[in-house]
Amino acid sequence: MATIVDDRVMVCVDCLMIIANDDATGLDHFLDEESAAAREREVRDAIAATQRDGNTLVVGDSEQDDAFSMSSCDCCHTNLAGARHHCVLIG
Ligand SMILES: [Zn+2]
Repeated sequence: MATIVDDRVMVCVDCLMIIANDDATGLDHFLDEESAAAREREVRDAIAATQRDGNTLVVGDSEQDDAFSMSSCDCCHTNLAGARHHCVLIG
């Protein structure tokens, strides 16, 4: 049975997209192709680092999302203000 390693990992929308759908195509809407590719690499590296001990980051409870937060993303550590989405790290 999976155990919860961290029950409150608040991530930015870029991280959420990849955690939820393994899909980074949304990045292209805001960035040119080159920046989007760089950003995707950064986010994937951050997710890999978070999961390094064999844990898995999964989407949590949307009721616990923050519509607007100034806190940095718990995954990629961006300081860009915006929505933060609740995820859970399971082991
Ligand atoms: Zn992030």
